[in-house]
Amino acid sequence: MDSEFRELYQEIILDHNRSPKNYGSLKDATHRLEGQNPLCGDHYVIYLKVEGDVVKDIRFEGKGCAISKSSASVMSEFVKGKKISEIDKYFELFKKIVRGELDPAEYMDKLGKLAVFAGVSEFPIRVKCATLPWHTLHSAIHSKTKEKVTTEE
Ligand code: ZN
Repeated sequence: MDSEFRELYQEIILDHNRSPKNYGSLKDATHRLEGQNPLCGDHYVIYLKVEGDVVKDIRFEGKGCAISKSSASVMSEFVKGKKISEIDKYFELFKKIVRGELDPAEYMDKLGKLAVFAGVSEFPIRVKCATLPWHTLHSAIHSKTKEKVTTEE
């Protein structure tokens, strides 16, 4: 990873950790799910307002490390207004990016700030911090569970 990319990574994590987007609860949520990563102590609730096959609105609240919080914040900006089928595809790409399986430079146009989370791939223990909000979102949309999801089963 070049130094310019690393700077961008740090800047986005710091920015979104300090002032997360879409933070708080959603009164008219159609979906709500808790997600936790016990390895790090990350714990969030994700609220969604889904209409048809589109995520019309999203909020999250909770606490955790800078990586999980900034990931939730960037994700919330990214998925708002998108179709569920698109979100599923981006989730697959995001998992590959944070595991270092794709070159983020090739995906900057498509993924924007999400691609920057490739920086996490250098710290395998933090990969679950970055993917927790996505796993929670995915489970909230697709599973019938009203229970918590966790990165450790
Ligand atoms: Zn964490």
